[in-house]
Formats: sequence, C-alpha cells, structure tokens
Amino acid sequence: MEIELSSFKEKITKLERNFEPKTIGLEEEGFVDLIELQARVIKEETGRIWLEGEVSGRVKFQCDRCLEEYSGSISKTVRLLYDPKEEVNQLEDDTFVISSETLDLGKYLRDSLILGLPSKNVCSPECKGLCAQCGINLNIEACDCEKDHIDPRLEKLKKIKDKMEE
Ligand SMILES: [Zn+2]
Ligand SMILES: [Zn+2]
Repeated sequence: MEIELSSFKEKITKLERNFEPKTIGLEEEGFVDLIELQARVIKEETGRIWLEGEVSGRVKFQCDRCLEEYSGSISKTVRLLYDPKEEVNQLEDDTFVISSETLDLGKYLRDSLILGLPSKNVCSPECKGLCAQCGINLNIEACDCEKDHIDPRLEKLKKIKDKMEE
C-alpha cells in the first residue's frame, strides 16, 4: 500500500481511498467492511508534505460482560509529516514523522486504527452480563439464582468480625 508523495503536484490534493481490512493487515483485529480514508495531502513551499485526514472502519467485538458479538465504528485522525530537511521539532503527539517520500500508508492506517481500539468492549452501557452462577445471559432471560450471593471466604471473615464485635 505504498504511495509516492512526490506524485502529488497540487498544493492541496484530496485523497480518498478504501481498503479491504486484510490488505493492510487488520483482519486479525476483527475489522469488517471497508476501511475508509478521507484525507488531503498538503505541500508546503518549504518542501514539507503533510497528509491529514480521518480513517474509519467497523469492528466486530465480543462483549466482555455477556460475550455476545456486536459491531461498532472506530475513527481516528491520521497526521503524517514528511520533512526533507528533518528540522522537525515540537510536534503534537499524534503526528507521525516519515523519512521518505515513498510512504507505506497501510502501516500508518493500521497503527492509527489499532490505537483507536477500545480497551474494554461492552455491547451497551446497560448490558447486564451473564449470571455468575448459572451463566444465563441476563439481557435475554432472568434466573432464580441468589443475587446477593456472598463469596464463602468473605462470609468466614464476616463471621469472625461479628464475633469480635459481640
Ligand atoms: Zn453485553
Ligand atoms: Zn443465574
């Protein structure tokens, strides 16, 4: 997925591309549907070239609470800078500095999207999850299990505590 930055002749060029997740190494991460890039390439008089835009995709997640699959969207800002004089300093954290006019775009899109993946996956803020005792999906059915079940180890401690207070 390489692009030649020198092939952009205008000061500002719109860059819109779609990628199959597997072409940029994202099939393992659960990405489904096309990955979309909406960006522009900006050439400065100084020779610097910026690529700025947004990359988005849809991911199939498994809910941490109820284990059901659901899908969600992810979008991330992408900002790349090629500086021929390598005078780059004081950059925002999310800017990738690139050293060559030949750019492996897929690699940066992949890194951006992976950084955008949530650390916790929950199908809905109201998800009730699975019953810790019978394993039933509480979003779909109710069960008769004791809800305020106390861990047996804690129960022992509670008894000791009660005795001490007597
Ligand atoms: Zn859930
Ligand atoms: Zn139950």
